[in-house]
Amino acid sequence: MELHGVDAELLSDSKRVEPLLAEVVSALGAHVVRADFNTFLPNGMVGTVMLEAGHLALHTWPESGFASVTMLSADSQIDLEAAIQKLGELFSADRVDVREIPCGEGLTSPEKSPVANEDAIQAERTHRSWFTEFDRGMALSMEVEGEMLFHQKSDFQDVKIFDTTTWGRVLTLDDYVMLSTRDEYVYHEMMTHPACLTHPNPKRALVIGGGDGGTVRELAKHPSIEEIVMVEIDGMVVDACRDLLPVTACGMDHPKCKLIIGDGIDYVERAEAESFDIICIDSTDPLRPSKGLFTEAFYRKAYEVLRAQGILMVQSESPRTKVHVFQEIYSFFDQVFGPDNVHCMMIHVPTYMPGTWSLAFCSKGLHPLGDVDHERQKAFVAAEDLNYYNEAMHQGAFALPGYVRKLLGHT
Ligand code: SAM
Repeated sequence: MELHGVDAELLSDSKRVEPLLAEVVSALGAHVVRADFNTFLPNGMVGTVMLEAGHLALHTWPESGFASVTMLSADSQIDLEAAIQKLGELFSADRVDVREIPCGEGLTSPEKSPVANEDAIQAERTHRSWFTEFDRGMALSMEVEGEMLFHQKSDFQDVKIFDTTTWGRVLTLDDYVMLSTRDEYVYHEMMTHPACLTHPNPKRALVIGGGDGGTVRELAKHPSIEEIVMVEIDGMVVDACRDLLPVTACGMDHPKCKLIIGDGIDYVERAEAESFDIICIDSTDPLRPSKGLFTEAFYRKAYEVLRAQGILMVQSESPRTKVHVFQEIYSFFDQVFGPDNVHCMMIHVPTYMPGTWSLAFCSKGLHPLGDVDHERQKAFVAAEDLNYYNEAMHQGAFALPGYVRKLLGHT
């Protein structure tokens, strides 16, 4: 296993590393027989941890944030995945590359001797590295395919783009999944079409955030919309997505799109009153630059910027894992728009851990079910090649399970 992006100090301190490896061993369900570490000057270390049926050997190169851990076990019952998970977590590695070489059985048989059959053994070696998102006692791992395509730190966040074996291409910010090309349409179609097909004639839309371009791509599909202003604080996200995620970034090059690199909070603060029909807050979780987007004051300003019959759509987090934020912002929506004009939508985004996600539909009087234009909706669904939104999903998204109704005080 090769660990990338590990803290250099940790990789030089055997007093800290030894107990971590002991934790990995217990995650394997094995026991340490003896451990021996040697630290080098000016930095780095080598260590061995002996087990009953195998061993772990560790070498570290702190100057490059890299460590290699070889693990040998003749016990076929060990839980390798758990060890990889634990290792990545305990060392807070950016990435864990894993190469598995079957051993113990079969190597003695002639057809499997390394000399005779390197191809077969090579073929069995699976080069696997994993990206893991950790949050509130949960983890979501995706097997990475090939090398990291983009990895830079902007003034705002750590931007990564990489291919996966199962979920297409993935964008993460600060190691939180923003989109996968395999399921991005769920979020982008539901962030836009219910509002655009409930509003009788939306002309101007505003997107705050949305640096991957998917929300703009979907808004631009509506013929009545003439202009989409998109305010994204981080130009690096826009450039990286334009370069590596054309499937969503194409939205930002649409003639209707006017892209502004700036803070959405400032933009809304200075925007003309009653100047937009639809506003989509397509932001990261309420951390650092996004924090101010999850406040009552911001929603009040957004309300003023909406025209009559205007609709505000907000990425309103998961009612499963972000309960406090979820409840807090819906109380803000109720204060600003009035409870009768606030509607929670449930959507299923497998790569947004834990998969259950919500969007808020807040209007100046229109109801997402009572006022949806069924004729236009039917024609739109028939004309567009959509993958998630349709009449039934529009209707169903507003049906809330009991636990969500309780969180919102709707019971
Ligand atoms: N769909 C994703 C989700 O639900 O988490 C969000 C995707 S989009 C990449 C989120 C964007 O919000 C990021 O590119 C981030 O830079 C941007 N953002 C965060 N705070 C912002 C702010 N105050 N003004 C404008 N953009 C902001």
